[in-house]
Amino acid sequence: MLCPFCNAEATRVVDSRLAAEGSQVRRRRECPDCGSRFTTFENAELVLPRIAKNDGTPEPFDEAKLRRGIDRALYKRPVSAEAVDAAVSRIRQRLRTDGERDVPSRRLGNWVMEELRELDQVAFVRFASVYRRFEDVNAFREEIERLEATPGPEAARAQLSLIGSDSGK
Ligand SMILES: [Zn+2]
Repeated sequence: MLCPFCNAEATRVVDSRLAAEGSQVRRRRECPDCGSRFTTFENAELVLPRIAKNDGTPEPFDEAKLRRGIDRALYKRPVSAEAVDAAVSRIRQRLRTDGERDVPSRRLGNWVMEELRELDQVAFVRFASVYRRFEDVNAFREEIERLEATPGPEAARAQLSLIGSDSGK
C-alpha cells in the first residue's frame, strides 16, 4: 500500500489486530522512507444488490439514506437507537438474502414499513403516508383501516401522544 504522506510504494505492517468486535482488522503501517505511521481498516466486502427505482433505473443501496428515512419517521418518537440499528440490520440482511440483482425500491419500502409497524405505529403511519401517497392510495387506506381495527395498547398510546405533541407543550 502506498504511503499517503510521501507515496513510497512499500509500507510495512507493524501491528495487526481485530476491531469492531471482530468484523474489522485494524493495521498499523509504517513507511520506511519517511517514517510516517498510519492506520488502515480492513472489512469484508459483502456485495448488496442494487435498488431499482420505479422507472427501473438501478442505483446502489444507500444505507445512510435508508437510515435518514427511518429517523425522519421516528422523529421525537420513543424508540431507542439500538432498536433502529437492529431494524436497519434486518433490512440489510433481507437485501443480502433476497437473491435478486436489483431489488425494486417498492420492496425495500415495504420492508421498512414492516419494521416500523413493529417499532412504532405513529412512525409507521408517517412513513407509509409519505411513501405510498402517490402510488397506492388504496393499499395505504387498507393498512390504516387494518391498524384501526386492531388497536393494541401501543397504538392507543401512540395516538394519544400524537395529539399531545400538537398542543405545543
Ligand atoms: Zn512515506
